[in-house]
Amino acid sequence: MSNAIIQPVRGMNDVLPTEIGRWQFVESVVRDLLHTYGYDEMRVPVVEQTDLFKRAIGEYTDVVEKEMYSFEDKGGERLTLRPEATAGIVRAAISNGMLRGARHKVWCVGPMFRHEKPQKGRFRQFHQVDVEAIGFAGPDIDAELVALTAQLWRRLGITRVKLQLNSLGTAEARRAYRGLLTDYFRDHRAALDEDSLRRLEGNPLRILDSKNPAMQSIVAAAPSLPEHLDAESKEHFAALRATLDALGIAYEINPRLVRGLDYYSRTVFEWITDALGAQDAVCSGGRYDGLIAQLGGEPTPAIGFAMGVERVVGLLEQSGAAPDPKGADVYLVAQGDAAVRGALVLAETLRAAVPGRRIEVNLGGGNFKAQFRRADRSGAVLALVLGEDELARGMVQLKPLRDESISATEISLATAGSAVANWFEENAR
Ligand code: ATP
Ligand code: MG
Repeated sequence: MSNAIIQPVRGMNDVLPTEIGRWQFVESVVRDLLHTYGYDEMRVPVVEQTDLFKRAIGEYTDVVEKEMYSFEDKGGERLTLRPEATAGIVRAAISNGMLRGARHKVWCVGPMFRHEKPQKGRFRQFHQVDVEAIGFAGPDIDAELVALTAQLWRRLGITRVKLQLNSLGTAEARRAYRGLLTDYFRDHRAALDEDSLRRLEGNPLRILDSKNPAMQSIVAAAPSLPEHLDAESKEHFAALRATLDALGIAYEINPRLVRGLDYYSRTVFEWITDALGAQDAVCSGGRYDGLIAQLGGEPTPAIGFAMGVERVVGLLEQSGAAPDPKGADVYLVAQGDAAVRGALVLAETLRAAVPGRRIEVNLGGGNFKAQFRRADRSGAVLALVLGEDELARGMVQLKPLRDESISATEISLATAGSAVANWFEENAR
């Protein structure tokens, strides 16, 4: 067998210990915040039937047309690595009998897969925090969801984001608008790119979502969706805007915001940034009142959003707002087999005596000088030194590492746990 180095899969990244601090910061802020807004975590598989995504996301979308990782498994089932989480959560709500008029506020976080052209902020495996409110017709819940995202940026210390809003109206209103749009784009057929030509008959709204710079002027002059909204959707949108005003949340109406997936209706929103180059969407969502029925569940209104974790981590990298990951608290210095054994035993005692503190034992040997160098690098504030003769007397040396003015003391090995606990209480940091 070849012993050549195996390369990682293109567009799929490792998150190294040096970067994990920001990820954990984002995840813990998200988890705490969603708890306080009454959302429960749920977990769904990374793989689903291919048909789920085709039916949910829509045939004429970038995701279904070109980005899905689909395969046939050994049993001949057609499966797809999830490109997004909403479809799976809706599938789970239906297959677990969670609907029946009930309401659910749920969220999940995990990897998504899209076969895109990898670049800064755009990967083939990326991560989303996905939040869904199922069984709510809004617009109150629409406002709560947006408020929650605004609060999330505040907690993360992220400022370079702006909120864009639009309403897509009901499915019926959109059908009428779609007719107008088809006529308009047919008149400008010569200016359409290949993707748009295909979408012209299948789903002309998708053309508004085109990322092709050459298409932007023809898209900008197209009939505007907000002018063709139905009365109820207009009212819904006005109520949402009034609540956001009351909450003091600034937004911009973007009449071209149609979102990349087909299942949206009425409210759609997107948080964008100018800090990440071409990849400007940080968090996107909207209402999908028709999706659950479309997937065979009883008609149930719902709304949700997904936040791109890599892009949020990228924003934190720039703002420097994430706290540095914590290093060790206590480092056990020990030389000789008996001392190392004693240190491993003592470390267990300490982990029970000062719960949550990081207790590291010097493993792999080294003289005292090398061990103290490692202790210093570990970030520990305290070293416990187990020398052969101290050990013989049942003692251990306690040596503060960050404050020269506090000298080392000898403590009894038998009561080291409570001595260290006391030390942290008196020298709390
Ligand atoms: P984009 O316009 O950037 O392609 P999208 O409309 O396809 O985004 P959604 O499907 O709404 O995005 O996904 C929600 C969020 O997930 C996006 O706002 C973005 O932050 C993130 N995201 C989407 N695709 C990727 C990707 N390939 N790599 C990293 N993050 C992504
Ligand atoms: Mg996309």
